[in-house]
Amino acid sequence: MASAAQPTLRHDWSREEVQALFDLPFPVLMQRAADVHRACFDPAEVQVSTLLSVKTGGCPEDCAYCPQAQRYHTGVQAQKLMSLDAVLEKARAAKAAGASRFCMGAAWRSPKDRDIPKVAEMVREVKALGLETCATLGMLSGEQALKLRAAGLDYYNHNLDSAPEFYGEIIHTREYQDRLDTLGHVRDTGMKTCSGGIVGMGETRAQRAGLLQALANLPAHPDSVPINRLVRVEGTPLAKTEELDPFEFVRTIAVARIVMPRSMVRLSAGREAMSDELQALCFLAGANSIFYGEKLLTTGNPDVERDQALFQRLGLRPMQVDAAAAGVPGTVHADIVHSDEEAA
Ligand code: SF4
Repeated sequence: MASAAQPTLRHDWSREEVQALFDLPFPVLMQRAADVHRACFDPAEVQVSTLLSVKTGGCPEDCAYCPQAQRYHTGVQAQKLMSLDAVLEKARAAKAAGASRFCMGAAWRSPKDRDIPKVAEMVREVKALGLETCATLGMLSGEQALKLRAAGLDYYNHNLDSAPEFYGEIIHTREYQDRLDTLGHVRDTGMKTCSGGIVGMGETRAQRAGLLQALANLPAHPDSVPINRLVRVEGTPLAKTEELDPFEFVRTIAVARIVMPRSMVRLSAGREAMSDELQALCFLAGANSIFYGEKLLTTGNPDVERDQALFQRLGLRPMQVDAAAAGVPGTVHADIVHSDEEAA
């Protein structure tokens, strides 16, 4: 990690401040984001995660971007929860391909209590392979979060998706507050949080700023912040949405880096459609995490070879994770503890 002065972690960003960052001339914004990136991370390192859909499709929710929602006709075949052995086979392959974190996703509104022991077993066994573990299963109760934590789950993903005022145009089957509540349950267990959103859903720049403001003003910055670029899937209500200007996507990455300096900012869905040059710009803007290898839930993702070739051309290397230390609170949580001590 670079030794320059560490940026202060703030949780009081105003919408105007975040929007002013978006509005900076592109080279100025890139420079500011790169300075923050270098102060907090080695910019040559990129954390690599693999995401496996352990239960696909058939979801009762109505997220307008999602091919797994039962109500849209997208050709996704609903599948039951995968067997433990099948998950472990994928996890071993992910580790062999250089992944340090293995994320298991299930298309549920929320897991049923009877599902938790099965997922907990997956978590225990994947962790035993020396991988960090992450799950994304929908809304969680406090008790479910505790059980997953007890099984050794390191991260829980639950995205805010969009700005609070735009959210109602995308999802009608649960509230923004439900998402905040789930993140709260996860934080309360000491698990690390992964939370970001999707851009290019027809939102304005002010609303993109609103998403990042909401994430940065959480009680703790998410340890990982996936920034997804909408994949316009035929059959979903957003299939015909106008494509977001690629530079606007890069700006979103840069602003995320500035307002959440010590979080992993992740290029997630939509990366397959990005040119190598656009991905390189995102790394310059402070992205330092990607999903690779496995299918990114049900949308495509560049294959391992293309990613490895890109890393080689750019002189990037996968971030090494000390699996033994994976269970300790992340830097962002550490900051919260510090703040609490200060306040006490
Ligand atoms: S995003 Fe998640 S909750 Fe929403 S429809 Fe898709 S699988 Fe269901």
